[in-house]
Amino acid sequence: MKLVFLGPPGAGKGTQAKRIAETYHIAHISTGDMLRAEMRAGTELGLAAKSLIEAGKLVPDDVIISMIESRIKQDDCRNGFLFDGFPRTVAQADALSGLCDIDYVVNIEVPSERLIHRACGRRICPECGASYHIDFYSGENCKECGAKLRQRDDDKEETVWNRIKVYEEQTAPLIAYYTERDKIVTVNGDQEIDDVTADIGKALK
Ligand code: AMP
Repeated sequence: MKLVFLGPPGAGKGTQAKRIAETYHIAHISTGDMLRAEMRAGTELGLAAKSLIEAGKLVPDDVIISMIESRIKQDDCRNGFLFDGFPRTVAQADALSGLCDIDYVVNIEVPSERLIHRACGRRICPECGASYHIDFYSGENCKECGAKLRQRDDDKEETVWNRIKVYEEQTAPLIAYYTERDKIVTVNGDQEIDDVTADIGKALK
């Protein structure tokens, strides 16, 4: 199974992607997580990406595409994979179509007025990557590994606005792109987490 998860910042892509990848035993490939790992490791790529990410801008297509090319060759991708946050532009989608055939593109819809609240209230674990929302968990430490939770720099309100604008201009056209190719399934992301997961499961059956 090869899946793409599409949706604006704050739609819950990461949370749902993790669950669905576990259910289907496929690799969860988050380009955002890969870039944050590069930043933490202080690599050249990480340093170059940092200012773009913190401004809510996209990292150049060629950088992302070569990251994906080598990632999908790894062993854990043999069973399939789920892309979370990739592709984000038509150029990336075109490059992806040259690499493999995608089974479904899951488009998670959330009304735009909810996105700021959802993204700004997110807290992540810098150690294991677990993600929480202050509406549902008020603790300061990660439930999985105990590390202190923090807000991503790009989840500050001003940056989230930029990310939404970039999504609308550069990523939303992929909905039409994949609709034309008969790949899109649309799910209402403005529900309880378990209900969204159940709807995605039904859509993929
Ligand atoms: P995410 O964790 O998916 O919200 O990604 C965080 C940030 O990483 C984005 O706002 C972009 O700056 C960058 N990024 C992640 N994936 C991509 C991608 N496919 N193309 C370009 N930039 C990306």
